[in-house]
Amino acid sequence: MTGFRACSKREYRDGCFGAGSNVLRDRFAGELKRESRETIFKKMNTNIGGHVTRRELLCLDCGQVNRLPPDRPTAVAQCGGCGQLLAPAAVQETTPDRLAAALRTDMLPLIVEFWAPWCGPCAKMDAELQVVANRFQGDMRFAKLNAEAHPGACARYGVQAMPTLVLFRDGREQARHIGVQPSVLIAEWVVGSAARST
Ligand SMILES: [Zn+2]
Repeated sequence: MTGFRACSKREYRDGCFGAGSNVLRDRFAGELKRESRETIFKKMNTNIGGHVTRRELLCLDCGQVNRLPPDRPTAVAQCGGCGQLLAPAAVQETTPDRLAAALRTDMLPLIVEFWAPWCGPCAKMDAELQVVANRFQGDMRFAKLNAEAHPGACARYGVQAMPTLVLFRDGREQARHIGVQPSVLIAEWVVGSAARST
């Protein structure tokens, strides 16, 4: 198809699917300490005064907006409409309409992978992103959007290369990354982007 490209050779190489990938993955397991994660995500969900700005999540399964009680951990919160976990340890397929609705309501950052069926690196990215989604379950949400099926969404968000990750927070794009990379680097990118914004 036209209008998009797969990630470049350089991006692909820097995606680290060569030597060292497993080493990085092991390092990731040791480095992301629980305390630092909690500090970062606590900041992400509060404003300067320390008050939670909003406690809502749109269910990516059924589209219902859920208001969460302050004492309800997001990791176990379920949708009042369909009963699904609101922040599951999975990358959920989404649509442009649902994405737009989530950006209007969500209290958690949302990372969206724009992908295409013809894109080989996207399949690798799926596997890596799934590892990260497991890691950050309850802290942020992960979705994927089929760029071939929804070219209008790519135009709307200025996405031209596959795969592209966009981190949305408080309804706005916070950061983006083009090309496949291992889970440890995706995780570092996520945490680094979050830290910069506070
Ligand atoms: Zn639901």
